[in-house]
Amino acid sequence: MTSTSRISGFRNLSIDERRERAVSAAGLEPHRLDVLSPDRGLSLDQADHMVENVIGVLGVPVGLATNFVVDGRDVLVPMATEEPSVVAAASNLARMTRDHGGFVTSSTAPLMQAQVQVVDVVDPEGARMRLLAAASELIELANAQDPALVAFGGGVRDISVRVIPSSRQTYVVLHLIVDVRDAMGANAVNTMAEAIAPRVAEIAGGRTLLRILTNKADLRITRVSAVFDRELLGGAEVVENMVDAAEFAVVDPYRAATHNKGIMNGITAVVLATGNDTRAVEAGAHSHAIGLDGRYTSMSRFEKDADGHLVGTLELPMPVGLVGGATKVHPVAQANVALLGAATADELAAVILAVGLAQNAAAVRALATEGIQRGHMSLHARNVAVSAGAAKEEVDAVVSRMIEAKAVRAEYAEQVLAEMRAPSGGVR
Ligand code: NAD
Repeated sequence: MTSTSRISGFRNLSIDERRERAVSAAGLEPHRLDVLSPDRGLSLDQADHMVENVIGVLGVPVGLATNFVVDGRDVLVPMATEEPSVVAAASNLARMTRDHGGFVTSSTAPLMQAQVQVVDVVDPEGARMRLLAAASELIELANAQDPALVAFGGGVRDISVRVIPSSRQTYVVLHLIVDVRDAMGANAVNTMAEAIAPRVAEIAGGRTLLRILTNKADLRITRVSAVFDRELLGGAEVVENMVDAAEFAVVDPYRAATHNKGIMNGITAVVLATGNDTRAVEAGAHSHAIGLDGRYTSMSRFEKDADGHLVGTLELPMPVGLVGGATKVHPVAQANVALLGAATADELAAVILAVGLAQNAAAVRALATEGIQRGHMSLHARNVAVSAGAAKEEVDAVVSRMIEAKAVRAEYAEQVLAEMRAPSGGVR
């Protein structure tokens, strides 16, 4: 268990010092994070076994978010992202929840669903009844495909059957509802769906077509809430403005898309860092963000508590695992999971939701106060300086010149560099 996630001055340490502080805080063996060095991470051989036609691997920065307390547990969160300001923003807002108990989560059982589509059925409603009546037989057949999952306490929990009219014909669609325990579960439920399909076709009196999980994982929900301190946020007026800024995303899909993108900045970074399937999580999250009126809306809600502090809540499907997929084979994903200290997929999902909420609150706060560009651009300016050719010792000077001139652009960075390097110039 991590002793504390509150490591002040973390950003001022060298990379080696940060790793040392992280492994010691998380109680890991001293060199557990060495695989995060580019030359020690995923090898070409390992990559070659993961996907097809491999020609290399891509490096993505992994930053450590500090200050998180999730369900009473201090946790240091590795985030894989190429976007500046994301890690700093999450850490900053997480700090503002600490005196109010951090992030509190709950979740449903890890239920994933597979769909079996049946076509050419003469009596769809009759077929539905026959399939439901055969539930025990179908469940037994599906469970027989994955004795390991059943041994771990998972397996099929139920089936449901939907009759779905379309412009072509009426489809009968069977859902297999499976407790996948600590797996993301796609392979597990797909195998089951394919195995039961012939029997489903026979019972329904039709032909099965698709047999695949649904990424609308709406039976596998994680919820998080946190209280962000009014004074640390900037006072009562900031809280009021944040609530209005967040409400804008509730009522307007154009704003909701960007608001939710901010949430996914946090979520996707942790999902990727742990080797989980970013597309599956994103598909599940966006398909969940539909209000009762059928409109795309905000994934989160913000309100004031009785003392004027900001209360944020977020509820999303979180189909992530610890045992399968890339998490099992990618050495950096394994080190990141160890750092997080998540013992179950549920615990991982809880941390991911907490980061999503912190990230969301950070963006809403920036937008409702000084605007997003100041913080974002000062960090982005470092990328611009480096891509313009600034050496390590030149970066700070180029960044401050660009910010001062409100010109965070490659050509301006090049001009500044040229001036600095001119014989009469020098680092200002
Ligand atoms: P998996 O098949 O590698 O691992 C799951 C299996 O691990 C289970 O079936 C079980 O037999 C075993 N297991 C051992 N210990 C377990 C435990 N404690 N809890 C649960 N199971 C345990 O992987 P998966 O999670 O079934 O599938 C995930 C992969 O499928 C991801 O890589 C994902 O990208 C990919 N995928 C996704 C989609 C999609 O999202 N549409 C479609 C196909 C494949």
